[in-house]
Amino acid sequence: MKREPEAFLKEEVKNLYDNHLNWVIRHLEVGSKPHSIVDGKEVLMLNTNNYLGLASHPKIIQAARDALDKYGIGAGAVPTIAGTFDLTKQFQEHFAKFKGVEASLLCQTGFAVNQGVIPQLVGKGDYVISDQLNHGSIIDGVRLTKATKGVYAHNDIGELEKVLKKADSENARRILVITDGVFSMDGDMAPLDKIADACDDYGAMVFVDDCHGEGMLGNGRGIVAHFNLQGRVHVEGGSLSKGFGVFGGTVAGSKDLCEFVTNKSRSYLLSTAHPPAIVAANNAAISVVETEPEHVKNLWINTNYFKEKLDNLGFNTGNSCTPIIPLIIGDPGPAQEMADTLFREEGIYGTPIVFPMVAKELSRIRVQMNALLTREDLDMALTAIEKVGKKLKII
Ligand SMILES: *Cc1c(COP(=O)(O)O)cnc(C)c1O
Repeated sequence: MKREPEAFLKEEVKNLYDNHLNWVIRHLEVGSKPHSIVDGKEVLMLNTNNYLGLASHPKIIQAARDALDKYGIGAGAVPTIAGTFDLTKQFQEHFAKFKGVEASLLCQTGFAVNQGVIPQLVGKGDYVISDQLNHGSIIDGVRLTKATKGVYAHNDIGELEKVLKKADSENARRILVITDGVFSMDGDMAPLDKIADACDDYGAMVFVDDCHGEGMLGNGRGIVAHFNLQGRVHVEGGSLSKGFGVFGGTVAGSKDLCEFVTNKSRSYLLSTAHPPAIVAANNAAISVVETEPEHVKNLWINTNYFKEKLDNLGFNTGNSCTPIIPLIIGDPGPAQEMADTLFREEGIYGTPIVFPMVAKELSRIRVQMNALLTREDLDMALTAIEKVGKKLKII
């Protein structure tokens, strides 16, 4: 029998559609901001990672324009082969100061940081210990290592200590503990202070992936600043594509760490550097967070107002303590129906999150707050969410 090289594609795609597990990609017709036009419809967006609204900030856009005029569009090569821009050096020094650490490195994306860095930090004879609910890019990075893998129940310090003890008793050469800073599906935070204490006892390395915590916690500086743990967390991975509103990944920590990553991370070594306009915009975004504290402040005012109202309406918002607020509904069907009704009838764009991103019985709509939302926007959204929630008997 002759092989049909592509037949499986049709079959796999059909399976996804048949089981309602396919993603529908909607199209934005204006920039990412709370009042947007999506698939031809005016909607209020409650589902972006652009927490501070910086994706449309005029100073950041201007910085990109200026760099575009001076440097052109593309970077031309990976940094190690043909150099990088003076802009990148400026950004890295600025970002390290902002984070309160020795050095930082601009990497392609937050995803690429986890792919490139984790497999270099540990290998055969080592232990890597990961929170059960860590982001998929961490899970993939861990899969690339030859280290022994340990997992602890979500945010459970007692379990973490057990795994640390086990790694210690097996004479692991190095131990790496890795956690999300803010967990993107539940909006809860890692107890990073307690994790750092536990790691201290065993000489373990602490790696926090703070892609969602940056821009929201610690005056925008992230979870390490929130807990005052500068110098006690060895690797901070981050993203410039979320709270900072632009694009890219970061590593922050010691000079040795950044030198090591420059020379070892395969995603850093083998993937092209950012366009200069993006580097300049990233630098401007950090300046905006430093000089305009109102964005972080507004984000939290909106978060506290919206969450209290949702809780009072009787929605289950789980353990959320950040601008990520899940409305936990239960079965995937009602979660999808609620999101769909909100979009079609009320002009509210919130994303349903279902298996495999969360357990089937914890299907939800994930709401994300934004500094640019007005009190009027929030009240309009609350009225709509209450109406649809009651109609579908969720509250
Ligand atoms: C979003 C996210 C990433 C990926 O970051 P990008 O810069 O979008 O590639 C990695 N880790 C966590 C925890 C994230 O939330």
